Amino acid sequence: MNATFIHALQEEVTTLQAQFPDLSERLARAQTLITDGRLFMEDSGTEAMVTSKDGTQYYAVNGQCVCKASQHRKEACYHRLALRLYQKVCDRLEAESECYTLNLDTEVIESAAAPAIRPEWLVSVQGKPFIRFEGLLELAHARGLVSLETVVVQASEAMCICQATATFADGRRFTDIVDATERNVAKHLDIYYIRMVETRASARALRRALNISACSVEELSGEEVTA
Ligand SMILES: [Zn+2]
Repeated sequence: MNATFIHALQEEVTTLQAQFPDLSERLARAQTLITDGRLFMEDSGTEAMVTSKDGTQYYAVNGQCVCKASQHRKEACYHRLALRLYQKVCDRLEAESECYTLNLDTEVIESAAAPAIRPEWLVSVQGKPFIRFEGLLELAHARGLVSLETVVVQASEAMCICQATATFADGRRFTDIVDATERNVAKHLDIYYIRMVETRASARALRRALNISACSVEELSGEEVTA
């Protein structure tokens, strides 16, 4: 994680702890959650996935959270605080005309020889450019990708969660998680469905590694692609 981000986060936490002493401990836990890299922002910027310390639990967090503490108490659990903290720090850094992303070492990426994005990798969907997974993969290989692993965290009829980790020759690792519910995937739970979610997770991990903000085609739902 970027030093500027960590510094801004620390300042934000200290300020909030002074303002809300009751939340002091929970804010500290939220801060640790972010610096541990256990908060995964969704592209919407208003939702996130959070993993528990041992990596066995996944919480979808937006205005609400599914954790036990959240069900029993009225005030925000530390998962929700972490999301709010992250948003606050991003807003602040963006206001300072720089936007940082978790796990993103921009300096290393910018110094690497950057092959051009080829026209055949781009697809126009409803007037907007999208990059194909194939293109992401090739760019990543050019920048030293050594492995791209996916893990199916959960697969049921209601939800499929996949995690992807891209590892580079210099040791950098980028992880992202995709949770696909019936809302945003095709209905059938079969191997193709799971592979699609795995590809989405991989695409997001690669976009994170390559600092590409445009979506990949594979991340869109079937309906959107054919529209
Ligand atoms: Zn929670």
